Amino acid sequence: MSRVYNFSAGPAVLPVEVLQEAADEMLDYRGTGMSVMEMSHRSKDFDDIIKTAEADIRTLMNIPDNYKVLFLQGGASQQFAAIPLNLMRNRKAGYIITGQWAKKACAEAKKYGEAVELASSADKTFTYIPDCSDLPITDDMDYVYICENNTIYGTKYHTLPNTKGKILVADQSSCFLSEPVDVTKYGLIMAGVQKNVGPAGVVIVIIREDLIRDDVLPFTPTMLKYQTQAEKDSLYNTPNCYGIYICGKVFKWLLKNGGLEARKEINEKKAKLLYDFLDQSKLFKGTVEPASRSMMNVPFVIGDKAMEEKFVAEAKKAGLVNLKGHRTVGGMRASIYNAMPIEGVQKLVEFMTEFEKENL
Ligand SMILES: *Cc1c(COP(=O)(O)O)cnc(C)c1O
Repeated sequence: MSRVYNFSAGPAVLPVEVLQEAADEMLDYRGTGMSVMEMSHRSKDFDDIIKTAEADIRTLMNIPDNYKVLFLQGGASQQFAAIPLNLMRNRKAGYIITGQWAKKACAEAKKYGEAVELASSADKTFTYIPDCSDLPITDDMDYVYICENNTIYGTKYHTLPNTKGKILVADQSSCFLSEPVDVTKYGLIMAGVQKNVGPAGVVIVIIREDLIRDDVLPFTPTMLKYQTQAEKDSLYNTPNCYGIYICGKVFKWLLKNGGLEARKEINEKKAKLLYDFLDQSKLFKGTVEPASRSMMNVPFVIGDKAMEEKFVAEAKKAGLVNLKGHRTVGGMRASIYNAMPIEGVQKLVEFMTEFEKENL
């Protein structure tokens, strides 16, 4: 067996220990004689799996009792619709446009009401997070929406917007569980797990209980109504059982390794290694304003397309894969999520150092 260092933005690297454990339990999950994939979602064994997963994420993130944790399907993209359907009571909300995912969320919300663009960093191809200290938020807005970490452009909010008392809704897909967060600052957090937590097909929604209501927009599909899912503890219909099981293992892995405080320290170290290299390099250049840099997704360029292709190809040969930038921005991008060991980043920096020597 040989494992590569996988810098994919998602679906992305998972902890080897988790994969190994899942492999060990594949044919016979703890004496049941079957895999978790073959198990009823109404069984005692699966009930334990989902309840333990929920308890563990609550511990990890210190989620207060007045927040529900939902394990849903449809990905982050489906939440782009679920959020306005459930929360747009005045049919008006504010969106901060920091990249493609925020843009898509805003476009979806416009189907259901007035989605006002409060700020945008489109003027500089989303290479920074706009100043959000005094946004044109009006009293009739139901919430303020952000994409907290911009997977494609490599930016991250280091200060949350001043929402002027309005509910903050955040897409945390690509920074979920990368560091501690104060859940009480949000009305709703959602994250597709395939970036930093688990296999594709699960989206986690953490929502304050008073926002789970019956008076959603009248045409809201039953499945997209948070109340439906909350009342049945994510088991209204068959959930992604196997995906939830793997997420649960990742939560255990994080807890065993010191929780989110410890994870933040490691993630900061990894990101610093790469950014420090980029800051002194004469060949490679980071594309994001230093104050807005993401700890998870690091885009960089050489500025010469042929040379960039050569870099990506040679890196792949060296066991450093999926470094090609997003199709819409080009260049390179290294996603260095929780499960990317520091050795992977060290290897990447060594490889870049050598590449620079040979090609400058
Ligand atoms: C990947 C991603 C999405 C889309 O996720 P899906 O689960 O594929 O719908 C949305 N937001 C962010 C920040 C992402 O990184």
